[in-house]
Amino acid sequence: MSNVFILADFLDGKPTKTNAELATAGARIGSVTAVVLAPVGKGEAQASSLATGPISQILIVESDYFSQNGVAAVADALAQLVTTKSPAALLVASHAFGKEVAARVAVRTDSGIITDAVDVSSDLTATQLVFGGSTTVHSKVSHGTPIITVRPNSINAELTPATPVVEKIELALDENSKKATITSSKPPVQGDRPQLTEANIVVSGGRGTNGDFSPVEAFADSMGAAVGASRAATDAGWYPHTHQVGQTGKSVSPQLYVACGISGAIQHRAGMQTSKTIVVINKDPEAPLFEIADFGVIGDLFAVLPKATEGVKAHKS
Ligand SMILES: Cc1cc2nc3c(=O)[nH]c(=O)nc-3n(C[C@H](O)[C@H](O)[C@H](O)COP(=O)(O)OP(=O)(O)OC[C@H]3O[C@@H](n4cnc5c(N)ncnc54)[C@H](O)[C@@H]3O)c2cc1C
Repeated sequence: MSNVFILADFLDGKPTKTNAELATAGARIGSVTAVVLAPVGKGEAQASSLATGPISQILIVESDYFSQNGVAAVADALAQLVTTKSPAALLVASHAFGKEVAARVAVRTDSGIITDAVDVSSDLTATQLVFGGSTTVHSKVSHGTPIITVRPNSINAELTPATPVVEKIELALDENSKKATITSSKPPVQGDRPQLTEANIVVSGGRGTNGDFSPVEAFADSMGAAVGASRAATDAGWYPHTHQVGQTGKSVSPQLYVACGISGAIQHRAGMQTSKTIVVINKDPEAPLFEIADFGVIGDLFAVLPKATEGVKAHKS
């Protein structure tokens, strides 16, 4: 039976739910091995936190170079494992860090890479949405080890408890992967809201907010949602660029996406149209985003959102 590697995805030392999504995709192809690249002394704890999804094996490599040298050290270790263990494929979470790691591993192992897949089938055909989501592409890697980055939230994860076999591996990292050192890093101020790309619900505001995101945030908080923004809103300085959804921002695929005062330019759709349910609140009935909405509210967001927030709170109490 073929074996598929997934790069275990951690945020602030905690596993993300993307691991179970990657493992679910991997299990369609063969048995799944999660690769945990952890600081010295933390590997086993991180491995044991990967308790969900069809993961049959975990390979742990411990090194402090992963945090000191970042992407180069991670890619080096992963490339060595791919070369020595010859998995049928390597699946990686499709965020900025994951895509950079995947690209470096592809170069190091002379392999083909597909990024931003929204699905992977049992014969390793990847599905991507391109040209702002207007075209669906099916493609396969034809050279080397298929390396595929998969967008978080795109695959319905199988949430079975995992009882994987754990193995620790010693690797000597290449001196070239230690040449750039991370001297300091500052995590973005996150607050209590979930990560934008991980969230099950995203509430986004656009130019229609006129710079006042308070009703968007209040509604998001009532729903336990992340807050997103259109580029018009981030360019105006109304919301941080880290929250921009779209072609030049983040790609999100939540269960529910609520767009408030956003017209629906193709560049915005590119980052959100794979959302499972789309709700649009806009005072212009001709706003293009209504074309892809599952539910639409024609109205002023400053009137609609406070009522919706009240409704959610009343429903919860
Ligand atoms: C190369 C390139 C990359 C880009 N990348 C991105 C990207 O990543 N993400 C992105 O979002 N955009 C991106 N854009 C910009 C994109 O083309 C649009 O300009 C932008 O998405 C518009 O944002 P908006 O919908 O908030 O604003 P607008 O298009 O101005 O729409 C505002 C909407 O709010 C509605 N409205 C106004 N007041 C209210 C109210 N009180 N209540 C309810 N509705 C109201 C209006 O009817 C209107 O539909 C990019 C553009 C380019 C050229």
